Amino acid sequence: LRANFSVIQKETGFVNGLITVLHDITEQEKIEEERREFVANVSHELRTPLTTMRSYLEALADGAWKDESLAPSFLSVTQNETERMIRLVNDLLQLSKMDSKDYNLSKGWVNFTKFFDHIIDRFEMTIEEHITFQRDIPSRSYYVDIDEDKITQVLYNIISNAIKYSPEGGKISFRIKEQPEKIVVSISDQGVGIPKNNLSKIFERFYRVDKARARNLGGTGLGLAIAKEMVEAHDGEIWAESKEGKGTTIFFTLPYEQEQEDEWS
Ligand code: ADP
Repeated sequence: LRANFSVIQKETGFVNGLITVLHDITEQEKIEEERREFVANVSHELRTPLTTMRSYLEALADGAWKDESLAPSFLSVTQNETERMIRLVNDLLQLSKMDSKDYNLSKGWVNFTKFFDHIIDRFEMTIEEHITFQRDIPSRSYYVDIDEDKITQVLYNIISNAIKYSPEGGKISFRIKEQPEKIVVSISDQGVGIPKNNLSKIFERFYRVDKARARNLGGTGLGLAIAKEMVEAHDGEIWAESKEGKGTTIFFTLPYEQEQEDEWS
């Protein structure tokens, strides 16, 4: 808050009035500060893979291309960095689309139980053997009014983190719980966990608990920020619970009305 004081003085020299104008500049400054920080983050995130690629390409150009023991791994580094930049730019485009005012959800009624099951199936086909999946999903159907693509993205971002941070032999559990006027979807892993004071920050853009580690795992730091925006666009909430060294659960809710369903059946 910034205050401008103007003193009202009459010819007598006595101060007999004081005008105070208070401007609520905090909000505006905060937005400006966040914007600056965001641009700095984006630039940094793009510069890192570019400088890595430059040095590997320089080495290749300097003769490493002739070395059969080096060239393939140097090329693979530049390929990975390219992939990371594509992911990052895709995530940024996704966020910028959601930030724009004309952002629309294309909603439709979906049997969430079935939908969730299909997505888990898709992941189950691709995971390595050392991770197991456990589904704790009711057999009944829950019809929710959602944008399928967006909620697929939410689940994709949460589940890929659970896989990324799972240890050898780790179990990932999937749940749906019904509560008044909503369903609570949760995905739990037995991974490294997140320190308590970082828990709410993981939904911020570019926030990572362990930057080097997250980067090695191919993350952009935007996955959960995107998930949060998409869940909130559906009038849902998203949060995390975690125990360091024990595991993490990400929860999100979607509005659900029992009555509506009764009318249909
Ligand atoms: P990233 O692309 O780095 O995974 P996210 O936005 O998806 O970005 O997640 C932000 C950060 O939250 C991660 O870098 C990681 O530190 C932490 N995190 C997210 N999910 C988990 C999880 N299941 N277990 C442990 N840490 C997690």
